[in-house]
Amino acid sequence: EAEAAKTYLGRPAATACGVPISVMINVAAPEEVDALDPAHCDGIGLMRTEFLFHGAGGLPDEDSQYQAYRKVLEWAGGRSVTIRTLDAGGDKPVPGLTVEESNPFLGCRGIRLSLRRPEVFRVQLRALARAGCRGNLQVMLPMVSMPEEIEAAARLLDTCVAELHAEGHEAVRPPLGIMVEVPAVAVTPERFAAAAFFSIGSNDLTQYVLAAGRNSPDVAELGRADDPAVLALVASTLRGGAAAGLPVSLCGDAGSDLAVLPKLLACGLRRVSVAPAALARVKAALAGMRLGDDG
Ligand code: PEP
Ligand code: MG
Repeated sequence: EAEAAKTYLGRPAATACGVPISVMINVAAPEEVDALDPAHCDGIGLMRTEFLFHGAGGLPDEDSQYQAYRKVLEWAGGRSVTIRTLDAGGDKPVPGLTVEESNPFLGCRGIRLSLRRPEVFRVQLRALARAGCRGNLQVMLPMVSMPEEIEAAARLLDTCVAELHAEGHEAVRPPLGIMVEVPAVAVTPERFAAAAFFSIGSNDLTQYVLAAGRNSPDVAELGRADDPAVLALVASTLRGGAAAGLPVSLCGDAGSDLAVLPKLLACGLRRVSVAPAALARVKAALAGMRLGDDG
């Protein structure tokens, strides 16, 4: 079956009824792309950057970040690469950066932490703006819950680009989009239309709307990505994105769960980003799905 699935890798993904689906990959470390053919996917829908902050040498400098981003952008050729700014906190503590708190999932994580530590955030934004010259980059903010967070990050990014140019560096101002993983955003997506795109983080969206921790086995049965409440938020995000003219994708694990994927397609989803190991399986499964089947 795995061998049969591989025959789908080299073709653009589409459903059995002929609807094209964009299938991208999630990358957690740049080495992951070494064994992959970029022609097998529609780009990188999520590159996590936490790995950079877990090295022995403390916080990574601009050049080491630039090299990591450049590597995946060059690998992708002209395909779209979405790099997410640091999502420290919650289940992803970073020594020397995240703060001790009683409820880290509801605390200072993701964009909240980056905006509180602009001296750290600026290093990442500068590295991204420089790397943007090497491919088709978009930058994504994690854990957004307020429109002001997009504005603040956009101002900081603009400043970084202006500084780089003044210093004589090559740099571009990449489009700035957001993860939709806090229910507040999915309920009122029109307030977040300053974003360049939405990417649904079904892992966090599920845990936040159902109040069932993503790493708590005792409540795993409650935290299902195909719960009607989660699907309603997915549909709401898709409607809001369409109304604002923004592309909407999904980069959480639900996109590679073959029991959930048809329900996401039924909500209107047409772009997913999945783990590289799931790519062949998802493309093969899509080829057997008809829109309208959701069970
Ligand atoms: C998500 O929350 O669905 C997501 C893709 O982000 P992460 O798993 O890194 O929190
Ligand atoms: Mg998340």
